[in-house]
Amino acid sequence: MINDAPYDLVGVGIGPANLSLAALADPIDGLHTAFFERESAFRWHPGLMIEGAFLQVPFLADLVSLVDPTNHLSFLAYLRARERLYPFYFAEKFHIPRAEYADYCAWVSRRLPSLRFDQPVEAIRWSDADELFELDVAGTGPVLARNVVLGVGTEPKVPAPLRDFAVHSADYLPQRDRLLATGDVTVVGSGQSGAEVFLDLLRGRTSGQGTLRWLTRTPAFAPMEYSKLGLEQFTPDYTRFFHGLEEPVRDRLVPAQWQLYKAISAETIAEIYDELYRRTVGGGWPDVVLAPAVEVTGAAQVNGRLELALRHVQQGGDATVTTDAVVCATGYQERDLGDLLGPLGTELDRDAAGRLVVDADYRVGTSTRGSLYVQNAERHTHGVGAPDLGLIAWRAATILNSVCGKKVYPLPERTAFTTFGL
Ligand SMILES: Cc1cc2nc3c(=O)[nH]c(=O)nc-3n(C[C@H](O)[C@H](O)[C@H](O)COP(=O)(O)OP(=O)(O)OC[C@H]3O[C@@H](n4cnc5c(N)ncnc54)[C@H](O)[C@@H]3O)c2cc1C
Repeated sequence: MINDAPYDLVGVGIGPANLSLAALADPIDGLHTAFFERESAFRWHPGLMIEGAFLQVPFLADLVSLVDPTNHLSFLAYLRARERLYPFYFAEKFHIPRAEYADYCAWVSRRLPSLRFDQPVEAIRWSDADELFELDVAGTGPVLARNVVLGVGTEPKVPAPLRDFAVHSADYLPQRDRLLATGDVTVVGSGQSGAEVFLDLLRGRTSGQGTLRWLTRTPAFAPMEYSKLGLEQFTPDYTRFFHGLEEPVRDRLVPAQWQLYKAISAETIAEIYDELYRRTVGGGWPDVVLAPAVEVTGAAQVNGRLELALRHVQQGGDATVTTDAVVCATGYQERDLGDLLGPLGTELDRDAAGRLVVDADYRVGTSTRGSLYVQNAERHTHGVGAPDLGLIAWRAATILNSVCGKKVYPLPERTAFTTFGL
């Protein structure tokens, strides 16, 4: 029986964040844990597992290594189990394919007895009688826990005018064949996903098929910040600095840092450029439109096609284009936790904007005696590193140290050459 004993820690959702927590919790003697996932198995963004896509962080940002490289669930341990250490050694690749990271995580997920799949958590409340959290888990009944860690990830975001008409990039692969056969296709959004979808469509289409259009509201098809000092904004040191700032300052900083998280890897930009260049050999221009600073303000179905209303955010002019399909690579937003946390009601501390107040240990301010932690729902308090895979092991270790009330995982005092703050 799952629900016969209170757990010390229960995780809701099994993406990389809670998988890292489960992997680091596994060796801790006496810590009774369970992790619940609504899907039937571990899956990492299957709709965007485009061939040739690479992880944007080095392989050392696996689930455990940046905290404990000796953990038996490290990426190198996975390679050993797969008997692939020599090929990896000679490949000399610091950045692994996205499909390999997904396979590694799935391998880890099969080695952790604390994971329960096909079990969505529907609500979390505080039981005064038990002095414990009580979780409604579908098909299981109530589960009692001293501490709960939400790792439910984010959900695809589609701009309002396109809601009824567009495919989100998260669902790209199941729609790929149809999109490749469609005449005029428009991709909206210029983050890494938009660039990958545009490149994949560009490569897969035949000439004369119709226009491939790439629109983005951002002022440029810009490269992701990837300089070594720039990357120090994804360190625990920067996270700590950001957390200590005043709320209005944090709120101003996040959108200003868009090139840290909304841009495109320089390699993908180069691949797109090379692909376009190849199409000019022999003269002429490829049938593509790449337009930055353009916002889609409206959409309507006209004679079986889609009419998009556009506005140039710098020039201020309006225009319309007709297209046959739209892919929205317009990113992700934090999930609405209303249903899940609703029963906790007023027990949770919220800031002026109604967002959860999250302390340095990722604990939500609450009047309950148990602790509720969040992973990847704290961009407003911890900054743009919240979804970053390079910080997940460190965040999970911070949570475990807090849950255990001692340093089960010693963490370094300093992680950056840059001094953030005075
Ligand atoms: C295509 C893509 C590529 C990315 N590549 C990188 C990269 O290279 N480097 C990088 O640093 N970051 C990358 N990211 C960003 C980030 O690392 C990922 O989004 C990552 O998956 C976040 O992990 P997570 O565990 O927070 O959430 P998720 O992976 O979204 O997992 C959350 C899980 O919770 C489950 N869930 C939700 N609600 C419930 C519930 N009520 N009960 C039970 N289960 C529930 C969901 O089914 C899901 O499995 C990428 C993002 C995308 C979309």
